[in-house]
Amino acid sequence: MIRTSDAQVYTGITTDMVRRWRQHESGKAGARYFRGRKPVELCYLEAGHNRATASQREYAIKSLSATAKKQLIATQLAYTRALIVLHQLEELPALMTTPTSKRPMCNTCSRPVRNCICALVSPIANRVEILILQHPAETTNAKNTAGLLHLSLKNSQLKIGEQFDAEDLDNWLFAEQKQPLLLYPEIPEYQALGLTAPQMLPAQNPAASHQLRLVIIDATWRKSRKMIYLNRVLQSLPRVMLTETPTSIYKIRKAHSENQLSTLEASCYALQQLEQQQVDYAPLLAAMGLFVAQQSAFVPLIDDQNELPNPFAPDERNPHL
Ligand SMILES: [Zn+2]
Repeated sequence: MIRTSDAQVYTGITTDMVRRWRQHESGKAGARYFRGRKPVELCYLEAGHNRATASQREYAIKSLSATAKKQLIATQLAYTRALIVLHQLEELPALMTTPTSKRPMCNTCSRPVRNCICALVSPIANRVEILILQHPAETTNAKNTAGLLHLSLKNSQLKIGEQFDAEDLDNWLFAEQKQPLLLYPEIPEYQALGLTAPQMLPAQNPAASHQLRLVIIDATWRKSRKMIYLNRVLQSLPRVMLTETPTSIYKIRKAHSENQLSTLEASCYALQQLEQQQVDYAPLLAAMGLFVAQQSAFVPLIDDQNELPNPFAPDERNPHL
């Protein structure tokens, strides 16, 4: 079976796969079916037939629905690949060249190579360290900005989990006797849930910014609340809230027409606030603009509709934004 340039699947029989492919491709002595379309990918093979059984099998496959053909191709991928190697057909454009199960991954950013974001990283020496607590669901979200944030900031840790081991979390939060601060908006549910009211952060001395550790929860709004509920130490941390969204960030937000701050934007802004503008995050915010454009090219827009609001979203629950 051969996938064609117009996304159809052609089924045929031959005694010489390479010769037959060339004929289909050139249009000389190829099947009539390939007039006006090209063979693109050898996607299914069976071998070991004689002329009679091959014809019967061809007829049976041609009678299948498009869905059933797709299923047949999908379930026999490994077998087809093995036959391609066995019959030395590697020179043909085939499933061999576009493996779906084993995408090459970048070791640095842990993303598929075609989606690698390493070129966007320009290191920034943030003074306030950040600790990103990432919900596991975010690790497979191609549009997640925490990875770019983490790779770009020199003083950054990223931990993945929903409920962390209490001792581990304590160590991450209080290591080197730094003061952890949680970036999180005020939520009215706090009192209803019976949670500890957070202390507000006293005005900071910029010289002390290297003694601070900003804790970021990278999750959807709903999951972030669950994480705060499950990891009770987070409830008692002094909290940082964003005061005013700077114009530069606002422009990028508008540019990718999302009504919310990404984790990267919210973190950069909180850092600027705590460091009293001592460090320039403009290159990172510009890189995010490129990242958004790059990812939009790969990710279907429908993904956005499944997203819950980001906890930093400037909605009615968070009047400070
Ligand atoms: Zn990479």
